[in-house]
Amino acid sequence: MKTPLTAIKWIAEGTRESLPMPEDQLKENLENISKSSQEMFAFIDDLTSASKADAGKIISDKKEKINIGELTKKVVENMRLFVKEKKLTLECNVAADINVIGDMNPLRRSLANLISNAIKYSSEGGLVRINVQTKGGKAIWEISDYGIGIPKEEQEKVLSGYYRAKNAKRSAIPGTGLGLYYVKKVVEAHDGSLIIFSEIDKGTKATIVLPLSGDTEA
Ligand code: ATP
Ligand code: MG
Repeated sequence: MKTPLTAIKWIAEGTRESLPMPEDQLKENLENISKSSQEMFAFIDDLTSASKADAGKIISDKKEKINIGELTKKVVENMRLFVKEKKLTLECNVAADINVIGDMNPLRRSLANLISNAIKYSSEGGLVRINVQTKGGKAIWEISDYGIGIPKEEQEKVLSGYYRAKNAKRSAIPGTGLGLYYVKKVVEAHDGSLIIFSEIDKGTKATIVLPLSGDTEA
């Protein structure tokens, strides 16, 4: 969940090393730093609610119609920096016009956390695949990677908050162990579910299942 903070750090360091630079590039970098700080503030707000362990508090009573394909494309765009850095291939297959009802920002942050996990637990040069589709009258978001995987006996625990699997800790990949806990709370508050399939050293598939908005064709 430190993605926005990492972005701030990278952009700031990258800018310092590339000085002097054209003013429009500098402006764009500063805007990105500002956007990422906003994101971090909003996330901290949400997290304060999450730690109250009350799913109802995570999402407001906002019930907007959200095109999750479009949302996915935006989140993927923001991750480009991290994908490039790790020389990953990112495949994104989005079926047209899949809509759900809910609160956009928590859902966007949930997706961002699953994609950021797929990226950070992948080896350099790996593949991350994102699918957005409908199945059995539900919206299905799938994020797959071929990274380090989660040991069977720890797959429940990683959803419980502040828990990181032993192989993740050993690999020195940074994290707080809060992302999946947050995602689960948000998804459940939207009457959906989060399912993790994972095999150690083979990879992980995280699936979010959400009810479709009434006017989406299943
Ligand atoms: P953060 O709070 O920054 O997200 P984190 O990534 O460690 O930190 P979670 O996203 O909650 O926390 O994930 C919990 C743990 O589950 C991770 O520490 C890791 O052990 C395991 N995990 C989650 N996603 C993956 C994945 N795609 N591949 C391998 N392990 C994963
Ligand atoms: Mg995470």
